[in-house]
Amino acid sequence: MKITHAERRQIENEMIFRRINEKVGDDLGALDAMHIEDGNIQLIRDEDLLLRFKCECSDENCVVRIPMMLSEYQEIHTNRDTFVVLPDHQVDPIEKILKKTPVYSVVKKNNSTPEPSDVLNDTPVDNS
Ligand SMILES: [Zn+2]
Repeated sequence: MKITHAERRQIENEMIFRRINEKVGDDLGALDAMHIEDGNIQLIRDEDLLLRFKCECSDENCVVRIPMMLSEYQEIHTNRDTFVVLPDHQVDPIEKILKKTPVYSVVKKNNSTPEPSDVLNDTPVDNS
């Protein structure tokens, strides 16, 4: 199936937003590692966190946040084709709904487009 330039752009937006969200989980993990190094074991979070994730729809101007448990978010994204969007923020030509809740929808892209690789440059974490 051929996709248009506009559709490709929409898909790339979703991937960028997802990467921003995933960075939150990664940073929390890095924070825990830092607490262990510093001997501040008591600061390590021992329960799931309710976070407000950015809507991963294809609209680059969408600023909606979706309240979700971190573990729930990470569970959904073990599948690399899925994105979490606000209900009705899906774009029908490029994705289909896998799961719908009152708070969010999980969508899957119709196309497998490779993830853009160097859109965001991660700053290496250096705790030394
Ligand atoms: Zn949205």
